[in-house]
Amino acid sequence: MTAADFGGLGVIPVNEPLLDGNEKKYLTECIETGWISSEGPFVARFEKEMAALTGRRHGIAVCNGTAALEVALSTLDLKPGDEVVMPAFTILSCAAAVVRRGGVPVLVDSDPVTWNFDLEKLEAKLKNEIGCNNNRRIKAIMVVHIYGLPVDMDPVLELASRYGLKVIEDAAQMHGQQYKGRACGSFGDLSTFSFYPNKHITTGEGGMVLTDDDALAERCRSLRNLCFQAKKRFVHEDLGFNYRMTNMQAALGVAQLERIDEFVARKRQMGRRYTEMLAGHEGLTLMPLRTDYAENIYWVYGVVLKDGIPFDGEEAMRRLGKEGVGTRPFFWPMHEQPVFRKMGLFKDERFPIAEWLARRGFYIPSGLALTDEQMDVVVEAMEKVISI
Ligand SMILES: *Cc1c(COP(=O)(O)O)cnc(C)c1O
Repeated sequence: MTAADFGGLGVIPVNEPLLDGNEKKYLTECIETGWISSEGPFVARFEKEMAALTGRRHGIAVCNGTAALEVALSTLDLKPGDEVVMPAFTILSCAAAVVRRGGVPVLVDSDPVTWNFDLEKLEAKLKNEIGCNNNRRIKAIMVVHIYGLPVDMDPVLELASRYGLKVIEDAAQMHGQQYKGRACGSFGDLSTFSFYPNKHITTGEGGMVLTDDDALAERCRSLRNLCFQAKKRFVHEDLGFNYRMTNMQAALGVAQLERIDEFVARKRQMGRRYTEMLAGHEGLTLMPLRTDYAENIYWVYGVVLKDGIPFDGEEAMRRLGKEGVGTRPFFWPMHEQPVFRKMGLFKDERFPIAEWLARRGFYIPSGLALTDEQMDVVVEAMEKVISI
């Protein structure tokens, strides 16, 4: 994303990545050695290093975070009508991966403080569906850590084991984040990452599935690569995808990972700095700096307009745009997606906190290349155009 995307000079982009480490050197290596496909050595190295970061046994690099979810969901072998519980407030990729396998997403509303799915509502849903209604179609919980604070994993894992459900952890916004001292991306049967340029670690486009299970890892590797067979290459027992990551993407990833500690520290520092400057703003609800189980990693710096502000997030973003400040809307909840409504999904379902976040929330410039001076300009603009 360049400043040009937002209408020219003087514009503060909502996200700009930092690529001034060994990225150029490793990319040049790919070109000079001729290793540009997924067969090159950076791919295995990047997989190993992501596995080390998360304490997983296996990493399977793929072409983006959405593909990682598609592969992870494929291993669940859902039957038509099988259900996967997930937050209403998330990216389309989560629900799409379930729907494409013939499954049905079962949505849970958000917590108004952490913006992650509400664990009391999750428990009530499972208790009601499985405990009371004997619903045997629910097969898995998809955990999605939203914007900076991880989901409180202990209660989720307890529920999953109580009801015999698989857990998939979408850690696309959580590179380098920890929950009670354990790496995000280490939980559940499978976890997934994205390396899109607005994530903490980028490969341009890219993703990864991680697991501790040898058989699951084998299955993911096969699914990523069209389910080619070792002996008779072009004879296929299963339908796979071509979701391979190139050596050039992985080269970027290896260079980026060398700086993960620095990136995480900078993101947290940016979060603290914005919070110090915006805490006194009467019209904004901010993310907590920490909970009792984790410190916010500020994947993005999100704000939600308080009730007293007489306009919605869209209008605030328009006003900030006129001041030269790039913004992005929050996710739009799954139950309000026209594409799913047309399929007859989520009819008459309401998730008021997710709806509130979508309408009142947006995020401000928070990429790794953002300077303190730019943050000051952003805050000044917020004070000018958002008031009660
Ligand atoms: C970015 C993101 C994805 C999708 O990743 P892509 O690489 O853009 O396909 C999935 N889940 C979450 C939570 C994300 O933030």
